[in-house]
Amino acid sequence: MDFKTILKEVYTDLLQTKSNGQPASYIPELANIDPDKFGMHYCSVNGEHYGLGDHQEKFSVQSIIKVISLCLAFKTEGVKIWKRVGVEPSGTPFNSLVQLEHEQGIPRNPFINAGAIVICDILLSQLDKPKEEFLNFVNQLALNSTIQYNPKIAASEKDHGYRNAALINMMKSFGNIENPIEDVLDFYYDICSIEMTCEELAQTFQLFANNGCIPSSKERVITTSQSKRINAIMQLCGFYDEAGEFSFKVGLPGKSGVGGGIVAIHPGEYTVAVWSPRLNKKGNSYKGIQALEMLTTKSELSIF
Ligand code: GLU
Repeated sequence: MDFKTILKEVYTDLLQTKSNGQPASYIPELANIDPDKFGMHYCSVNGEHYGLGDHQEKFSVQSIIKVISLCLAFKTEGVKIWKRVGVEPSGTPFNSLVQLEHEQGIPRNPFINAGAIVICDILLSQLDKPKEEFLNFVNQLALNSTIQYNPKIAASEKDHGYRNAALINMMKSFGNIENPIEDVLDFYYDICSIEMTCEELAQTFQLFANNGCIPSSKERVITTSQSKRINAIMQLCGFYDEAGEFSFKVGLPGKSGVGGGIVAIHPGEYTVAVWSPRLNKKGNSYKGIQALEMLTTKSELSIF
């Protein structure tokens, strides 16, 4: 399969297409980005890399990082984490409060905000220096040492994070948060503020295309079973209340973020990252979804 040609066709087509939507503005700092940025990067498990457009420009990965925080918590704590967070699709927006009370403070999955906040609480209890160790883990997966938090974005989100504060207070009232609320939220905003390029994201997610082992360094990070399970959660829960639509159109596990990034994984084959900041009503990148739909349609390859 000639992915280089396919990627180029997809990119060229979409570059000329006007995209609807606007960048996220509920985190004011995210609204300052040029909305027409567009980059794509493909990375096969055999080490082939192709990138186009703004694929080497850093952007705020936001919820995409929730896959990596889940990965670290699953690696360090094992199956115990599933007592505090579920693995079911939510069918509700990423920051919704409604299910949480019904379900007694146990979030549906680790990728909605409530679930990712519980994972942050688990990491705070587990790690000696959470901020430093988490960043080291990201850099280890990315085979890179330049990835950093963006304190301006973290502060901007903290100043406007009323919903996340509501979610964590609700969970604390049900006994599902161990650490002080302020510490957990600060860590959550820090990890969401991490900036990466499409190239770095495609590299970071390679272990999920290779049963938990980084293909180029042969380093095993998590078990095969853990890797498959994280992919299953991405397939079912990676796109908020648009996860079914993404599965239907693209047919790959993946994760989006309100910074306009999406990473998708074809297990055994490749990872691909796309960035285009204009979001649809569900909070997913318009062009990002279109690009991935075209990629799997043209290549006639998905997990199905
Ligand atoms: N930090 C963002 C929030 O908590 C992440 C949202 C997202 O990317 O889905 O709202």
